[in-house]
Amino acid sequence: MGHADDHPAADGAHTRSQASQHCDLCEAAPITTWYHEDAVCWIADCEICQVPMVVWRSHGAEPPADALSHMLDRLRAIADARFGVDGWFLDREMRRIPDHFHAHARDPDWWSRIAARFLRP
Ligand SMILES: [Zn+2]
Ligand SMILES: [Zn+2]
Repeated sequence: MGHADDHPAADGAHTRSQASQHCDLCEAAPITTWYHEDAVCWIADCEICQVPMVVWRSHGAEPPADALSHMLDRLRAIADARFGVDGWFLDREMRRIPDHFHAHARDPDWWSRIAARFLRP
């Protein structure tokens, strides 16, 4: 596994020619907990959900099968380490950004953590 690039989007070195408009996932900077990055994907805590999220480096909704299995394998390893093997579920629904592949590894309590944060005065 090479380290061709250090941080995605940190210095704009990545050209985003495919992204015609603003995309949060293309522009994501490593501002949260950063778990993993390679040529195919990166994994960091989702800013909103506070759970690990894998994001495809390419802007598109349907990664090829080999990229998909690579990403889900990486996410699984990280989620297993954080939540325990049976302590999380894969959420592939792309609610906020439907045209750029990403998937969350959620633990059963993720929503109550978010709710607690928003309900706090
Ligand atoms: Zn994108
Ligand atoms: Zn999220």
